[in-house]
Amino acid sequence: MAQAGKGKLNYRCPSCFMRDIDIDMFYDEDKKEYYCIRCCYHGSEEDVLQKNQMARFRYKSMLKRFDFDDDGQKERK
Ligand SMILES: [Zn+2]
Repeated sequence: MAQAGKGKLNYRCPSCFMRDIDIDMFYDEDKKEYYCIRCCYHGSEEDVLQKNQMARFRYKSMLKRFDFDDDGQKERK
C-alpha cells in the first residue's frame, strides 16, 4: 500500500522505540532532518537508520535474555 504525505519514508523514532513506544517521525525539509514530536530526538536519515538498527539489536537481545531467564526458572523447578 502506498503511503501518502509526509516525508519520503516513515521512520520510527529510535529514542522512543527504546522505551517501547512505536511512533513515526516527521521530516523537516529545511533542515533535512527527521524529528520526533514526542521526545526531542532529531537527526539525519543516516543517523536515524543507524540508531534504529542499534535499538532493534538491543531490543532483541533484551528479549533473548528474558527468554533465557524463563527457561532457567523452569529448570530450577
Ligand atoms: Zn521520540
